[in-house]
Amino acid sequence: MGGATEVAQPRGGREDGPGVAVTVLGVDIGGTSVKAGLVDESGRVIEQQSQPTPHSSGDFRQLLRALAARWAGRFDAAGFGCKGLIDAASTRVIRSPGPVAFLEGLSLSEMAGLNVPARAGNDAHAAMAGEMRWGAARDHRHALLFTLGSGVGGAIVADGRLLGGVSGIAGHLGHVTVDPWGACCICGNRGCLETVFSARALEAEVWRVVNAGCATKLAGGPVTCEALFEAAAGGDRAATVILDKAVYQLAAAIAGLLFAFDPEVVILGGNIARAGVLLWRPLAAGIHERTRAFLGREVPLVPQQTSDPSGIAGAAALAMAGI
Ligand SMILES: [Zn+2]
Repeated sequence: MGGATEVAQPRGGREDGPGVAVTVLGVDIGGTSVKAGLVDESGRVIEQQSQPTPHSSGDFRQLLRALAARWAGRFDAAGFGCKGLIDAASTRVIRSPGPVAFLEGLSLSEMAGLNVPARAGNDAHAAMAGEMRWGAARDHRHALLFTLGSGVGGAIVADGRLLGGVSGIAGHLGHVTVDPWGACCICGNRGCLETVFSARALEAEVWRVVNAGCATKLAGGPVTCEALFEAAAGGDRAATVILDKAVYQLAAAIAGLLFAFDPEVVILGGNIARAGVLLWRPLAAGIHERTRAFLGREVPLVPQQTSDPSGIAGAAALAMAGI
């Protein structure tokens, strides 16, 4: 499991020498859609397509074969990003609870019938691979990435390598315990970061204060993170209390991880990372306050830089050399 191995080389092999372009097929497998495309060395998605996620392994195999056939002969390697626990070298899906659970035990590369090198990883690892190659982690050997969305994903670069651990689980930063007595988490633990700072957790808090009858502009409106941040920006007391607490806990979790991994940079991606100063300012202040004395420096907190919301480029980056 894990382990390193073949990565993209120019068509025709190394003897072609420098200057021969590498093109990689990137496939992002999500719960609702499968996005795929050809990615060049600069991270540009040259061509792409998106289709609804099939509901069976037979249909899925057909889709992957069709993608491989569409771009046959035009790519040197393939990279797959998929939710769950994926074996990087064999591209086998080890565990993926949810809509693509039928992929468990199957190798994505074999399903696609590929005869080029292939690598795979979960969606956060794919995002970090993109950042390592083209984005905020490009010039760093030590970096942390958090994807703040409906859940919290994560990835760690240590000594220039994307950390997988013995079973590929390393980097699941959303499952760091921040409250030992906290709420049950999807992973089987309780009080994970994801149970206090994620769209699901924040929206659950909004439901709670509305149901409790608290005076808030959130009552009667949409229960979304956008509405929560908007209400807090407008001075809504209940919204501010929810956010203050959640951001405080996120800062505490990141502070602990800074001591564990001593990164040069912390990268934030995902929908919630676009919330603006209401998130970034108190978060940076909270992290620095907790870590400044011991670290002796402020670790930059920066947004994800690769401009590929599809996830295709990140998936392709997994298969490019040096990750
Ligand atoms: Zn958890």
